[in-house]
Amino acid sequence: MREALLEILRCPACKNRSFSLDENETDGFEIKSGSIVCKDCRASYPIHDGIVDFLKNVSDSVRRERKAMDDEEYITDGNGNRYRLTEETIQRFGSKFLSLPEGDGSHFFKRGGSFQSIREASGRFYPTFEGLGLTGREDVLEIGACFSYASLRFAKKGCRVVALDISNYLKAANLLIDVAYFDRIFSDMHAMPFADSSFDIVFGSAVLHHSKDLKKAFGEIRRVLKPGGRIVLINESARGVFEKIPPGFEELEKRGFGDTSYTIPEWKKAASGVGFKKIKIELLSLADDYIMRRENRDPGPWPDFKLRLARFLKRHRPVEACLSFLLALPRLFFRPKSWRLYCYK
Ligand SMILES: [Zn+2]
Repeated sequence: MREALLEILRCPACKNRSFSLDENETDGFEIKSGSIVCKDCRASYPIHDGIVDFLKNVSDSVRRERKAMDDEEYITDGNGNRYRLTEETIQRFGSKFLSLPEGDGSHFFKRGGSFQSIREASGRFYPTFEGLGLTGREDVLEIGACFSYASLRFAKKGCRVVALDISNYLKAANLLIDVAYFDRIFSDMHAMPFADSSFDIVFGSAVLHHSKDLKKAFGEIRRVLKPGGRIVLINESARGVFEKIPPGFEELEKRGFGDTSYTIPEWKKAASGVGFKKIKIELLSLADDYIMRRENRDPGPWPDFKLRLARFLKRHRPVEACLSFLLALPRLFFRPKSWRLYCYK
């Protein structure tokens, strides 16, 4: 972390805003180790590898999910060898992390690879990012930042950025801060260590569906947004209004993961329930998704008519727009697929 981060921090325990900073080690670039101590309640938040840890006193569900992620997640190389996400692994596969989200074309990003899902979602990230119309003066918070490729993109634009996550995946971000600096913190998104009205943009990719209490999460996000600020979410799962909860969610729950299946009206209700002024939900192009997925896999022996149709629709956007209009209600009822959410404070 850098000392400037203190300007927006608020003690998650007592909500006081004055801290003392104990620096053990700095490298001239940032504070690598030490602690932040609340002057009011004396709570101490450690800094390791430049990351501030606010996970003290988190709920059992957050603790379980953090452990599940640390226990079960590996990077797998081309020979099937699995590497735990340690400092050494991060260095070893540094070029892969640096090439996220689109990847470098290697097997890590193809079907079955460790970064497949990130690569296949990159087609949704870039248009969303470009559509934000950044000036470079925005204060940005990325929740569930994981390997933090999005935080890096915001930082490269000149924004002041904080990447937040509960998992040790965040340690991979230490590779990226040499390219463009941003702060990293471990924290629960339901109780964030920030003062009210700290950010212009809160960005999240595939993170809020990990909340068991969507309204609380939205409420906390709204609190840290400045008036006129916005939250942008992509890659969130949603199920159709008439769709059963997919069986995979129960399995994830048993393993400690917090993934929850909400319908689009439930998403909207949670956001409007905490007072967001304007909520915009967009169902995204099915053709774009299909092309991205198919092109990332080896072609099968048979002609792929769906792929031809998807490419046709990509070339003829007005036709796709008509089709999307007709499919909007069926998607809402049965399977939304990919969608995007904006809420404005
Ligand atoms: Zn305190």
